[in-house]
Amino acid sequence: MRYGIISDIHSNLEALHSVLNALSGQAIDRYVCVGDIVGYGADPVACVNLIRRLDPIIVIGNHDAACVGKADVFNFNAKARTAVEWTGTALDEQSLAYLETLKYIENDGKLFTLVHGTLHEPEVFSYMISIDQAQDSFGRLESAILFVGHTHVPGVFELRNGRIRYSYMNKMRLASNARYIVNAGSVGQPRDGDNRACYVVYDTVRRSVDIERVDYDIKTAERKILEAGLPEMLAYRLESGM
Ligand code: ZN
Repeated sequence: MRYGIISDIHSNLEALHSVLNALSGQAIDRYVCVGDIVGYGADPVACVNLIRRLDPIIVIGNHDAACVGKADVFNFNAKARTAVEWTGTALDEQSLAYLETLKYIENDGKLFTLVHGTLHEPEVFSYMISIDQAQDSFGRLESAILFVGHTHVPGVFELRNGRIRYSYMNKMRLASNARYIVNAGSVGQPRDGDNRACYVVYDTVRRSVDIERVDYDIKTAERKILEAGLPEMLAYRLESGM
């Protein structure tokens, strides 16, 4: 089984098109989405529609949750809040209804689990950025792999022989005596200094997790953000990938 895993699309249709185009040639059996379809970018409805059509295993992100009244926008910074408010008015009823169905935690049997932020505090949307947090989430994890998003920085926590190590490996083979937290990065607003859209391919036969990058039409995504009257910084950060 091969899974195509995407996260943090953030209404960036150009990035989503590029990623789905890249994945269409990779014999993907099932799509997985780790949340935040919307927020920041200018194409929320088109992105929700594309994701829905994939029928993915999917969890809710903090921006998705804020748009349907499940997360408090006062926890957002000013620019993110502006984007959430703009997105709330841009979304149609069908898209809002879809976002409302999304849960905080999902899984594919015992194979893997999904959560946007951390498994120990799924409704708080904390960033999985420390060994302590990874430890708390491993403590709740009943499968071999947890996929997360939210930080927009791809990377892997590995728990082996009681020790947790964090690393960034773009091609990884899973050890049978270890468990993993894999951050799928961001399709629509990467923040690790690489401005290309990020996605992950998980192959259960090869036991491989590959973090991949693909170019997309950043200029068009930026222009649409500016034309929508969203904060300029949300456009320019796409160029820097930070
Ligand atoms: Zn996000």
